[in-house]
Parts: sequence; C-alpha cells; structure tokens
Amino acid sequence: MEIDNGITIPSVEALARRGVLVEDDGCSFCNEGIDSVSHIFTACPLALGLWEKISFWCCVRNFFVFSFKDLLELHSIGDRRKLEKEVLYGIIITACWILWKARNNLRFNGTNCNVEDIFSEVRATSFLWCKHRRFNGTKGKLAWADWCKFVNM
Ligand SMILES: [Zn+2]
Repeated sequence: MEIDNGITIPSVEALARRGVLVEDDGCSFCNEGIDSVSHIFTACPLALGLWEKISFWCCVRNFFVFSFKDLLELHSIGDRRKLEKEVLYGIIITACWILWKARNNLRFNGTNCNVEDIFSEVRATSFLWCKHRRFNGTKGKLAWADWCKFVNM
C-alpha cells in the first residue's frame, strides 16, 4: 500500500501487487486479517489496543483511524497547541515504526510481543526523541515522570 508521496511499506499485500508471492499472507499478530498496511496499522486488534493506550496517555478523545492517512493527520484534528500537535505526531510516527518492527520480529524471528511491550517501547523511544529535540527551548529538560503523564506538552 502506498502511504504518502510514493513511499511503500512492503506488506505481503503490497509485495503481491508487485508480483512477489508470499505463501503466508495472514497477519502475524492475529491470524485473522491479511498482512496489509490498513490491517496492520488500523484494524488489527493489536494495533487497536496500542492506539487505545496512546489515546488515554495523550488524552486524545475520538481517536478513530480507518486508514494510514488518518494516523498521519490525527494530530492536527481538534484544538491543540502547536507543541502538543508536534509531539503527538512524533508519538504516532514512533508507534507506527515500532509496530512495524514488532511485525517483522514476529514474522521473521518468531519473537512474540504484546500490546503492553509495544506501548512501553513507544513511550520510551518517543521520550528520547522528544527530550533531545529542541521544542520551544526546552531541549533536554523534559522529565520522564511528566512524559508518562503527557503533561507540559
Ligand atoms: Zn492482525
């Protein structure tokens, strides 16, 4: 599936469209859906569990996503300050990356994961990203405890 500006995530579905046939085209996480971008990121129970945790953490009401594009636009919906929008966008991108990494780890290495592990990794990774980025001169000042409560954003 092409997500944006010609970037393609090589899900089994996307590979099949390019003539690469993969025998097992089922979702590695749930074995119910197919290995497509829309399923992995917006329909799989694992992804839904992750977005639910992120919506609670970041206090985002109405966290509804039906396509990958919705994920990329979610931060701009509603009444948020610029900083909060940027941080939320960073968290969503981090979550997509970690979800994809978990999918590959399970598919190719047989490493199991659960929503709790993925959420913890998203929170830790996005903390490092945010802490070391310059946001309104706050570079390096962000505290882990505040981050876990998503305050001072
Ligand atoms: Zn699934």
